[in-house]
Amino acid sequence: MLSTVRRRMANGPLPLGSPGGQAELKKALDGVIGPVGRDPRDVLRIYEEVLEPTFVAMDNPTFLAFFQGAPSQAATLFDMLVSSVALRGVTWLGASGAVAAENQVLDLLAARAGLPDTAGGCFLSGGSAANLSALVVARDTARRRLGLDDSRQVDIIVSDQAHPSVLHAIRIIGARPIVVTTPSCRLTAAGLETALRERVVAPAAVIATAGTPNAGLVDDLAAIADVASRSGIWFHVDAAYGGGAALFDPDSRAVFAGIERADSLVVDPHKWLFSPYDCSALIYRRPQSARAVHTQRAAYFDVIHDAEHLEWNPSDFAYHSTRRPRGLPLWFALAVYGTAAFEDAVRTSLRTARELAALVESTPYLESVLPPELSVVLVRRKGWSPRDYQLWSAGLLERQEGFVAPTIWAGETVARFAILNPRTSVDMLEKIVASMA
Ligand SMILES: *Cc1c(COP(=O)(O)O)cnc(C)c1O
Repeated sequence: MLSTVRRRMANGPLPLGSPGGQAELKKALDGVIGPVGRDPRDVLRIYEEVLEPTFVAMDNPTFLAFFQGAPSQAATLFDMLVSSVALRGVTWLGASGAVAAENQVLDLLAARAGLPDTAGGCFLSGGSAANLSALVVARDTARRRLGLDDSRQVDIIVSDQAHPSVLHAIRIIGARPIVVTTPSCRLTAAGLETALRERVVAPAAVIATAGTPNAGLVDDLAAIADVASRSGIWFHVDAAYGGGAALFDPDSRAVFAGIERADSLVVDPHKWLFSPYDCSALIYRRPQSARAVHTQRAAYFDVIHDAEHLEWNPSDFAYHSTRRPRGLPLWFALAVYGTAAFEDAVRTSLRTARELAALVESTPYLESVLPPELSVVLVRRKGWSPRDYQLWSAGLLERQEGFVAPTIWAGETVARFAILNPRTSVDMLEKIVASMA
């Protein structure tokens, strides 16, 4: 097993791969699990020959769809080590050292965001779970502020460019989503003020997106923070994708001005901070407000809330209980490589995105849809129909030359390139761009 992992890591990312068929896979797996155990080498062979080729490798540098990840070797190896100890990162009582190291990382992220040094939170599985946990706190805090009982619905304002999981979370917590359409694809103070004046009954929170999934744009954070603090509502910043640039690229910092005023902030290290899946950081400005909402009580559990164990229970800051201490691989990688290496890696992908935009501008059959703010580049192929984009994207993956998914921008189908992997080179992009000729 260890030699398989060593070989895997020495060889770098998997080939792009292509999805398998449900019937074939079911057939290939038939009978693998039975009453009598099997030789692990046989089972590993099934994994390598049947399962692995169906993975479309997110860390392959020509994978440019969605938001890929590019986990570092140090973080990946440390993730294995974490798996080798049965470490349940729920309580200070059970996992104090792990929680202390995770908190060191959260402190570093909070300081880079400009949050006060009393800020804190926990690591969760992903931006979806982190946003959901933060919004529960926003909702309950608003109910207290407005003097509403637990059965009353509150309103949460969000732009039409937010990640779909955010709308899902608002519905799950029984709040009312007030979706603001954004002509500029950025939530602004004016859009928020209009919504507050005309549509909102019980104002609880506004969610700003710092790095929208479709185009990588940053909402007008500082102006939104002004309106939020004037109206007393919770200011949540979803920087699941953009957090890498916000916290590790000083040159991008101006775009994120206002992030330091967040009541809660979400950053996904499994996107742009080179952590293995799954890892999201949730940080509250006032962690005690989260603790008041999320702490779970049970007689057999009371010991974890005894004064001497109360230091910091990650279970008090989100809706979860059992969890991997998934901040540890990031802690190890930050310590081993140093923060400057993270800055270099983030800057490399930002630069590659700008170089792609320049390449597109100089290619006669292509047009840039808008200049990239972060590392998403939307590309128009002159004369193409939606079907042309789909066929091109499918062909690219089939030939194992790359994976770029189409999207829709202002009603028009275009190609969406997202670059978060520092190993994505301009050479690779030139080949992909040439395939659009
Ligand atoms: C990716 C993303 C999410 C969802 O995060 P997961 O880690 O996939 O759960 C939420 N918001 C934004 C802005 C994202 O980019």
